[in-house]
Amino acid sequence: MDDFLTDFQSDNFFMQQALREAQKALRATEVPIGAVIVRGDEIIARGWNQVETLKDATAHAEMIALTAAQEVYGDWRLEGCTLYVTKEPCPMCAGAIVHCRPDRVVYGCRDPKGGAAGGWINLLESNPPLNHRCEVVPGVMEEECGGIIRGFFREARARKAEARLRGGGADPEGDRLN
Ligand SMILES: [Zn+2]
Repeated sequence: MDDFLTDFQSDNFFMQQALREAQKALRATEVPIGAVIVRGDEIIARGWNQVETLKDATAHAEMIALTAAQEVYGDWRLEGCTLYVTKEPCPMCAGAIVHCRPDRVVYGCRDPKGGAAGGWINLLESNPPLNHRCEVVPGVMEEECGGIIRGFFREARARKAEARLRGGGADPEGDRLN
């Protein structure tokens, strides 16, 4: 029970750190997803989604954190490490995770449409042709992790609607709204 409590608390602590990375993405008007990689009780790498910033569709939070962790660790085998990410990894990231071999993957909100850690498919746990399996812990701080993403898309839709309204300024209907 004590072990369970400790693990539970530390998973929450490190997910909080991943959420901080997601906040960085939010400030850069990126889809707010963040990740950290932990070895023992130390964060060795951090990453936030930078697809727009870097104009790179592969610049997901997990990919950036994995690359940074391999550099710090001095090895591509991330044995003894746990990856924390605020959203369930996509198939690209799950593939990269299997190659890097961390022990555990802890994620926040589930992605039933495109998640590759059990949401849509499961590349991390049930992947017979692949040579590594990770222990997966889903749904840690799910509300917070999902809420920040939902908020981002809500605002993006509002911005779009506002732009449409302003763009309509030339027609009489649009003028009447001002
Ligand atoms: Zn991804």
